[in-house]
Amino acid sequence: MPADMVGFVPSGNEPGRHDDFIAGTRDRMSESFQRPPITRPPLEPEEHDSAYEGRKKQLLRAFNQAVRAGEPVRLRKPTSNLFRARKADSRYSLDVRAFNHVLRVDPTEGWADVEGMIPYEAAADALLPHGFMPAVVPELKSITVGGAISGGGIESSSFRYGFVHETVREMEILTGTGECVLCRPDNEHRDLFFGFPCSYGSLGYCLRARIRIVPTKPYVHLRHLRYSEIDTYFRDLEQLCRENRGHDAATAFIDGSVFSESELFITIGKWTDEASLVSDYTGMRIYHRSIREKEEDWLSVRDYLWRWDTDWFWCSRAFGAENPAIRRLYHHLGLLRSTSYWKMKALAERSGLLKVLGKERNVEYVIQDVEIPAENAPEFLRFMLREIGLLPIWICPAGSPDPAARFSLYPTDSTLLYINFGFWGGVPSDQARGHYDRLVERKVIELDGKKSLYSTSYYDRETFRKVYGGNACDELKKRYDPDNRFPDRFEKCVRGG
Ligand SMILES: Cc1cc2nc3c(=O)[nH]c(=O)nc-3n(C[C@H](O)[C@H](O)[C@H](O)COP(=O)(O)OP(=O)(O)OC[C@H]3O[C@@H](n4cnc5c(N)ncnc54)[C@H](O)[C@@H]3O)c2cc1C
Repeated sequence: MPADMVGFVPSGNEPGRHDDFIAGTRDRMSESFQRPPITRPPLEPEEHDSAYEGRKKQLLRAFNQAVRAGEPVRLRKPTSNLFRARKADSRYSLDVRAFNHVLRVDPTEGWADVEGMIPYEAAADALLPHGFMPAVVPELKSITVGGAISGGGIESSSFRYGFVHETVREMEILTGTGECVLCRPDNEHRDLFFGFPCSYGSLGYCLRARIRIVPTKPYVHLRHLRYSEIDTYFRDLEQLCRENRGHDAATAFIDGSVFSESELFITIGKWTDEASLVSDYTGMRIYHRSIREKEEDWLSVRDYLWRWDTDWFWCSRAFGAENPAIRRLYHHLGLLRSTSYWKMKALAERSGLLKVLGKERNVEYVIQDVEIPAENAPEFLRFMLREIGLLPIWICPAGSPDPAARFSLYPTDSTLLYINFGFWGGVPSDQARGHYDRLVERKVIELDGKKSLYSTSYYDRETFRKVYGGNACDELKKRYDPDNRFPDRFEKCVRGG
């Protein structure tokens, strides 16, 4: 393995606690913006393994001390992509920030060993110079490998590789018993391997994961296919996914965007060695607008991976970032990046811009990603357009590479293609709190779908249990966290505990 392919350490990631968007309490403007510097210490893989073992030993010591003192535990890490309100708590915060390295890479076998808290931006930056990337790279730069495995990460290569957790071959997990267990699909901890996705830190923390990597080319050629009718759109989307599932098919990426009932796009990405005109959506130009303006486009592979990050899909427009003068200012201040969302929000609030933009009226924030079986996708989209009205909507197909796989806390049918709908915005409302989120929850259940749990939820305990794995979580909790060092999943994901 090339020496500079290991030991990649990001640092200085900006904090972002999206729960405060709802709580509206914290002001992070004073924290300085920093891009993570890249350092590549010239260590051999063995040295990385031993450095990892050292970090692990230290963490276990800290954890076991806290446990002896009777303290429940929570994660201490510099960034977060959670969007639900959380109660202030006094739990012991376990400092896991050092677990952010790429440890080993095996290009021949197609895997990389990475630490659980490494942000995807750093993992991708370590691999791309060598012509590889993680098989699925969620599109916000600060999402970490452990967060994406435990939280159902997805992106436009998911039509072939499935959810992020389906790209994992093994994991080392710090459990509530103070041990670090190695779990694989075929060992004595297979229950934890298949139970970890959608556990959201309620069973333990992933310290290391062996993830699938795939070869890249320098550029991605994009073709934006325009549709004006919902049924045809989803029929073609499903067919494209089916035709291109094979690893030798030229299409590497498929996602979509819905701008209205009669303006829907499928975007197909293919690898290419050369590009005549390479676009740049990291500054003044806006990716989601380009979809409606161009039939085809070229991006460097890195810019493709982060095409949605600059504007947090389209969420930055809430702070005026699509007005050229305001965008220039944000660009100048280095705020066009998902992790700077809080700084942008604070600036827009302080300057009175939110008032001018009319964003201070009564709204319910509906910030959700849901997965719906493809056959029910047209009905879900019609429901969204009729009842919720948030646009645009991000569309991302996900098909399991192993039709027999079953993840106990996020039970889906692995023989089906699922369509992820991402919608993030404020719905003007004079209804009771959570009215629109509850409508979405009910519809998702009715259509055999699943909702990610990174944002607000309103399920009652019994419904939650039915939807998210029945008794499986209790069984896993008994084995891996019998003294409840980590929060209960329902309390955490629904009650904000
Ligand atoms: C607007 C918006 C859009 C989004 N869009 C996408 C998308 O398109 N694709 C996508 O994949 N995701 C998306 N997400 C969701 C995101 O992937 C999940 O929230 C993910 O869990 C965040 O991971 P994180 O590393 O930032 O972890 P955090 O936000 O810090 O934590 C998320 C949860 O994971 C747990 N966790 C974190 N690290 C670990 C670990 N190492 N081991 C065990 N548990 C851990 C935490 O306890 C917490 O419960 C979106 C989120 C938002 C707010």
